[in-house]
Amino acid sequence: MAKDKILRLILGDQLNENHSWFQKPDKAVTYVMMEIRQETDYVKHHVQKVVAFFAAMRAFAEKLRAKDHALIYLPLDDPNNQQTIAGNINRLLKEKHFNHFAYLLPDEYRLDIELQKMVKTLPVSWDAVDTEHFLTRRQDFKDFFDGKKRYLMESFYRQMRKKHDILMDGDKPLGGRWNFDVENRRRYDGRVPIPKPKLFHNDVRKLHQMIEKGGVKTFGDIDPGHLIWPVNRSQARALLNAFLKDGLKEFGTYQDAMTTQSWSLFHARISFALNTKMLHPLEVIEAAIRTWEKEKRTIKIQQIEGFVRQILGWREYMRGIYWALMPRLGCMNYFNHRAPLPDYYWTADTKMQCMRAAIGQSLEHAYAHHIQRLMVTGNFALLAGVHPDQVDEWYLGVYIDAIQWVELPNTRAMSQWADGGLVATKPYVSSANYINKMSDYCRQCAYDRQRPHGEAACPFNSLFWNFFNRHHQKLEKNPRIGMMYRTWYRKDPKEQKRILKQAETYKKNLNRL
Ligand SMILES: Cc1cc2nc3c(=O)[nH]c(=O)nc-3n(C[C@H](O)[C@H](O)[C@H](O)COP(=O)(O)OP(=O)(O)OC[C@H]3O[C@@H](n4cnc5c(N)ncnc54)[C@H](O)[C@@H]3O)c2cc1C
Ligand code: SF4
Repeated sequence: MAKDKILRLILGDQLNENHSWFQKPDKAVTYVMMEIRQETDYVKHHVQKVVAFFAAMRAFAEKLRAKDHALIYLPLDDPNNQQTIAGNINRLLKEKHFNHFAYLLPDEYRLDIELQKMVKTLPVSWDAVDTEHFLTRRQDFKDFFDGKKRYLMESFYRQMRKKHDILMDGDKPLGGRWNFDVENRRRYDGRVPIPKPKLFHNDVRKLHQMIEKGGVKTFGDIDPGHLIWPVNRSQARALLNAFLKDGLKEFGTYQDAMTTQSWSLFHARISFALNTKMLHPLEVIEAAIRTWEKEKRTIKIQQIEGFVRQILGWREYMRGIYWALMPRLGCMNYFNHRAPLPDYYWTADTKMQCMRAAIGQSLEHAYAHHIQRLMVTGNFALLAGVHPDQVDEWYLGVYIDAIQWVELPNTRAMSQWADGGLVATKPYVSSANYINKMSDYCRQCAYDRQRPHGEAACPFNSLFWNFFNRHHQKLEKNPRIGMMYRTWYRKDPKEQKRILKQAETYKKNLNRL
């Protein structure tokens, strides 16, 4: 049958204006976009996340219409909206007599399976095409690591640099090294001022009212007259440019720094724009390299390499991990952790200053930077033995950029080591030492960072030793951790007992810390 009436589905994180689908209008094609309860309700989301996604989808729909594409947009409160993808697609195919259906490959396993199942039941022909966003295909990663025990990011990253000829000098890395981490990752020392984050003032009051009226369950704060996140491509570009102007020159240096003086330091805050595909990763990398080439006097190679590593390395690598390990990854729990997530993850009401700061800004802005996610909230959940399902649920809900393909490998594998070390060679855990080294939190805390037990002892300290002690069978032989066990075993047994007793007390009273 001739495909002369085609329905094409665009999901909320597929806002790639430069996709070949959208290059010129086609009379045979109608696009459909939908705001559905299926997506607002699969996890409890931060309110800014729901609103930002819908606002960006609406702006994208407007853009397509302005370019003369035919488009059906189903708002959440449309009485004809069936609130599921399958419900809406089946209704439209029938009512509007489409004779072909097409979709862009979803990045989430859940939706991938759902669409694969759905198309098999459709009364029309169908096809699925690539989103033209990532720099690797789902399968590439599996092929690259075929037969290897561990998926090492460093080897993947080097191969990506070569393949895309990024920061290369022939077949050698520019600057003579692949990695400049030793020069990076300093505590914030006030040497240069922290740039003011570029914020938008999008008026999303109507959208916010709609989701409230519809009874969508959300959490977190919002000022609906002034949504700070970019909701269209020109805002996304403006955010990127602000970072290139103000953030890039210190990006690597303070990448792991944390301070109460700023919630975003020198970070780009472009993850929402990237994950919705308003920005393309190569466009970001190329723009950053152009800036560096023009300003080599002020931007050192370690800054640009550090930034490129995040996008070309970590982001693509995490996506590869996701597709290589799904659906297994979603159930992994190597340490058999069972504790519930403490209540303060939802309120920031805790005496631990580091946790209060990281959770507080997550609730306020739907954002925390990487090291806060990894070494504060993630570290604490792992030390406290929280069930990875609950950790995942929180991370998937709270962040503006949280989509499962990137949230899950970062949370379950990297941060909770629930994969037993396929991704990270050792668990990312620390006592107060690391947090104090990288932040000013401990100075303002009710707890004493130096005490492992006793009055006001920092909970991270005793929980840290408790973690290694309780998992010694699983970790002791790991060559990267051996040193930690030697230190632990050298401690006076009475001191060990006091530390473990303190940890037990804290674990029994997790909600009161
Ligand atoms: C427990 C945990 C959960 C996370 N959940 C998410 C998530 O749901 N969505 C998400 O996009 N990122 C997630 N990350 C990765 C990272 O923290 C965020 O991408 C980053 O904080 C976004 O802020 P930014 O744009 O200011 O990043 P910058 O620090 O400015 O980095 C630039 C870009 O690099 C990419 N990037 C950096 N690190 C990573 C990484 N580890 N994985 C993937 N991309 C990376 C992002 O696209 C980011 O926008 C998580 C990390 C941890 C430890
Ligand atoms: S003392 Fe402990 S709880 Fe307080 S900020 Fe430092 S690491 Fe966090």
